[in-house]
Amino acid sequence: TTVPTLTLNTGATIPQLGFGVFQVDPDETERIVADALEVGYRHIDTAAIYGNEEGVGRAIAKSGIPRDELFITTKLWNSDQGTESAHAAIDTSLEKLGLDYVDLYLIHWPTPEKGLYVETWKAMEEILASGKTRAIGVSNFLVEHLQHILDLGGTVPAVNQIELHPALQSLELTQFARQHGIEIEAWGPLGQGKYPLFEEDAVVAAAEAHGKSPAQVVLRWHIQNDNIVFPKSNSRERIQQNFEIFDFELTPEEVSAIDALERDGRVGAHPNEVN
Ligand code: NAD
Repeated sequence: TTVPTLTLNTGATIPQLGFGVFQVDPDETERIVADALEVGYRHIDTAAIYGNEEGVGRAIAKSGIPRDELFITTKLWNSDQGTESAHAAIDTSLEKLGLDYVDLYLIHWPTPEKGLYVETWKAMEEILASGKTRAIGVSNFLVEHLQHILDLGGTVPAVNQIELHPALQSLELTQFARQHGIEIEAWGPLGQGKYPLFEEDAVVAAAEAHGKSPAQVVLRWHIQNDNIVFPKSNSRERIQQNFEIFDFELTPEEVSAIDALERDGRVGAHPNEVN
């Protein structure tokens, strides 16, 4: 299986499918990430707040996979926003991961009440210049937050990682980001199992037509909509299943039927409410 790549505004490529480790138990992370690497995933999405960067790092080290064949993302937690704390935070993450650099470093949430994300972005630019990350981006940023970053006239975020699944597609935000060369990473690509997405007629019909599972259909829908995804699972079988989405294609009608599931159905926190 060859996972398609997208090209970031830095010129680097990113595998469109990765593996996310939110809520993966730190004690199990090494084994689960090792499974994902064995299946063929080369893109891992973690965060300082997940508490499992060390497990990710051990799995990478033991895999023997050359560093330049991997794409590793981690994120700056809210309490580390600010110049000095951001510089300390990337050092801590790199140490836990056992890496010299990550491929992508993200501001995890804008936390607008703190009023620190613009200052933090300037620190992210310094971290980029230091070589500790190959690209910088943001997560959970709304248009207004992106605009404040763009207004600086400096580095344009490589990605915005946002909650995105059929019930919450945030079209205005994704169009705005893409117009500015910011790729979209969809977190909670399966809706985090928090609504009966896999029972929707549009999903079930496409699954039956292609002999795939509903989850595979939803992930395929993301791929065809140019989203970057990293579904999470602890089960080797599902980790494998989620990787097998490049041997079929949804028809334009099937894509449209899933597009029509939009209903402003946020399952996670609203970006302005996280502090
Ligand atoms: P997800 O949509 O990937 O859903 C995970 C759930 O789906 C799990 O309960 C799992 O059991 C189930 N699942 C996975 N594969 C399945 C399959 N084939 N069939 C049936 N069920 C299946 O949600 P997520 O883990 O929250 O999101 C993915 C990743 O996004 C995270 O691991 C993390 O890396 C990232 N994330 C980022 C943020 C952020 O604020 N930036 C927030 C949440 C998640």
